[in-house]
Amino acid sequence: MLWRLRLTRCQPCVEAAVADLTKEAIDALKGAMRGQVLQMSDTGYNQARQIWNAAIDRRPALIVRCAGVADVRRAVSFARERGLLLAVRGGGHNIAGSAVCDDGLVIDVSSMKSVRIDPRARRAYVEPGVTLGEFDHEAQEFALATPLGINSTTGVAGLTLGGGFGWLSRQYGMSVDNLLSADVVTAAGELVHADASHDAELFWAIRGGSGNFGVVTMFEFALHPVGPEVYAGLYVLPLEHAPDALRKYDAATAAMPDDLSVWAVMRLAPPLPFLPAEVYGKPIIAFAVCYTGPAEQAARTVDVVRSFGQPYGEHIGPMPYTAWQKAFDPLLAPGARNYWKSHNFASLSDGLLDAAMAALARLPSPQCEIFFGQIGAATARVPAGATAYGNRDANYVMNVHARWDDPSDDARCTQWARSYFDASAPFALGSVYVNFLTQDEQGRVRAAYGANYERLVAAKTRYDPNNLFQHNQNIKPLPA
Ligand SMILES: Cc1cc2nc3c(=O)[nH]c(=O)nc-3n(C[C@H](O)[C@H](O)[C@H](O)COP(=O)(O)OP(=O)(O)OC[C@H]3O[C@@H](n4cnc5c(N)ncnc54)[C@H](O)[C@@H]3O)c2cc1C
Repeated sequence: MLWRLRLTRCQPCVEAAVADLTKEAIDALKGAMRGQVLQMSDTGYNQARQIWNAAIDRRPALIVRCAGVADVRRAVSFARERGLLLAVRGGGHNIAGSAVCDDGLVIDVSSMKSVRIDPRARRAYVEPGVTLGEFDHEAQEFALATPLGINSTTGVAGLTLGGGFGWLSRQYGMSVDNLLSADVVTAAGELVHADASHDAELFWAIRGGSGNFGVVTMFEFALHPVGPEVYAGLYVLPLEHAPDALRKYDAATAAMPDDLSVWAVMRLAPPLPFLPAEVYGKPIIAFAVCYTGPAEQAARTVDVVRSFGQPYGEHIGPMPYTAWQKAFDPLLAPGARNYWKSHNFASLSDGLLDAAMAALARLPSPQCEIFFGQIGAATARVPAGATAYGNRDANYVMNVHARWDDPSDDARCTQWARSYFDASAPFALGSVYVNFLTQDEQGRVRAAYGANYERLVAAKTRYDPNNLFQHNQNIKPLPA
């Protein structure tokens, strides 16, 4: 029950549509595809239905591994004409597991992996199966980048469509602020090139409205000079110093330059080589620092974190941007069970810090953590109505990561996350980043979009009136 998305379409209707699928229809679909169509009995099916969050265990009737736009169009039309429940998979990282449905059809675009960089025009043209690491690999060849997330195996597609933020966001904005155009296969199966002057309403809606409006088959991003070296690393203190350190951090944030990002993570210490061995497994707060400005100013600029307290250890210095983009991969590997809760904050109040410390005193598993991602700066200088992503007043995105391995810990770990989420709610802005919503949070979709919600409903009613794209944090169209 916990892991089931609340569907608009009734479960018996979903099952009836699958029961109506004939062998002839499936064979015809297979014959029409350049990519692969997998059924439950096929080799590779079990691997193809797995996603980053191992707590999600769903069995679609068909997984269509699209090789290109033609496959996507055919798969969309196949699902629409047969009334099949439809899910869309990019990098497979979404915590809610929206990439995979029970029964129904998955459009899997993860093998569409082209990245074309135009270094002169500073543009990237990116297919929807590309991961952040793959994007960086191509763009960094020319010392270029665009704001994306902090874990290299995340999909560019789902991250961007929900908003997207990472180490470069304070300098260059959200991922959607750097999206210049997109090719979208709509519910009608049409291919639309959307930008500021063509299908502008669709272009507005996909910049935050997630997978509600169609399947994006190409993203065009603006690129910026970044690296190839940045000045980055970790500054690690004992957890008991966290309230004082976080107060200093919050006070320093307003004066930090756009090219400095500092995030805070509280958890048990992983075996980081620069920490004394006796610190491993002890509660810590780690400030993760990334400075992308002029090298000669780096040491002086990051010095601010050293005022946060006496550390257990630090490792901050020049390193390749691509290495920093992978620094958190070992802690975020696929295969564990995960449950998240998230709030946005304008500032870190004492009540919030008390709630965080109380939660950290009763961590239910060694992999659980609370982090504050720092945004603001360039992300806040865009008007809230400019894109569907509208949380422009958020200076910090807090995520409580419950993470564990044994299914018998499901209830204990999810309850821990929920309880801290409730305790921290009075200090939050009330909005939330849609990409951090779990499968049982459809009720927060309106809050995720705030004043932009009604406009999104109008766009949904125009572009997907029958809610074909509903296996997501769903924006429901108006009834016909
Ligand atoms: C370990 C980890 C670290 C993360 N770090 C960050 C971070 O630093 N910054 C940040 O902003 N977010 C971060 N996220 C959240 C991330 O943005 C979301 O999980 C996002 O949904 C991942 O996209 P995906 O393509 O990998 O996911 P998927 O699960 O494949 O897709 C999620 C949903 O997006 C939609 N979608 C995907 N591809 C398409 C497409 N081509 N067309 C239309 N709709 C599509 C679908 O509705 C799909 O169900 C992180 C997530 C994880 C698990």
